[in-house]
Amino acid sequence: MQPEGPTTVETAVIVAIDGPSGTGKSSTSKAVAAKLGLRYLDTGAQYRAITWWMLANGVDVEDPHAVATAAGKPAIVSGTDPNAPTITVDGQDASGPIRTQEVTSRVSAVSAVPEVRTLITELQRTIAAEAAGGIVVEGRDIGTTVLPDADIKIFLTASAEARAARRSGELKGKEATDLAATKEALIKRDAADSGRKTSPLAKADDAVEVDTTELTLDQVIECVVTLVEEKRAAK
Ligand code: C5P
Repeated sequence: MQPEGPTTVETAVIVAIDGPSGTGKSSTSKAVAAKLGLRYLDTGAQYRAITWWMLANGVDVEDPHAVATAAGKPAIVSGTDPNAPTITVDGQDASGPIRTQEVTSRVSAVSAVPEVRTLITELQRTIAAEAAGGIVVEGRDIGTTVLPDADIKIFLTASAEARAARRSGELKGKEATDLAATKEALIKRDAADSGRKTSPLAKADDAVEVDTTELTLDQVIECVVTLVEEKRAAK
């Protein structure tokens, strides 16, 4: 008699996807996770959530000491369904407020504070460890620091022009700025994220670099799915 349950059991796989803003990281990571039946974690959303909480609670985000002191106060919870990811702060849905220009322009200052990174990194490792079937984790330091033993590491890049055009297309209504301003803000944020002392945005030595400048989103997804499937087959 056959045992009950699925006939084929896929091997759990941990996928780290890093890169600067506007490379298609989030769309790619969600789609890859959904296609392969994996969980999904947006680590940028966690840094945005803690930044939003600090701003809402009057913490001076340019003061690293004040940020470090307050870092442990908010409870940040991420839902990891790639088809409907969620983020709450102290039980409150934060998915809308974390995407404002104000949060976007202040998040790099908060994410550079070592105490913040220690707390959020712990949270990320716990979520990854609990994702029994495997997970796609996207961010800036996943392959280098958070999950250095990930089964596969991808580093997405694209020209600053392509990234600004994509980001600009995502912004709506009065928040939509012109392309030049978007590009400038994006370059500034990447410089801050790459230049910070604690776990900066960086490509891990063993990451596969995918330049998405000339690729459609579907092509990037297909490329990453193939890389993950190859790795999973070899496990
Ligand atoms: O990916 P997203 O643009 O939402 O990330 C927002 C910010 O969160 C980044 O600019 C960066 O400062 C921070 N971040 C980080 N480490 C990660 C993910 C995001 O420092 N792993």
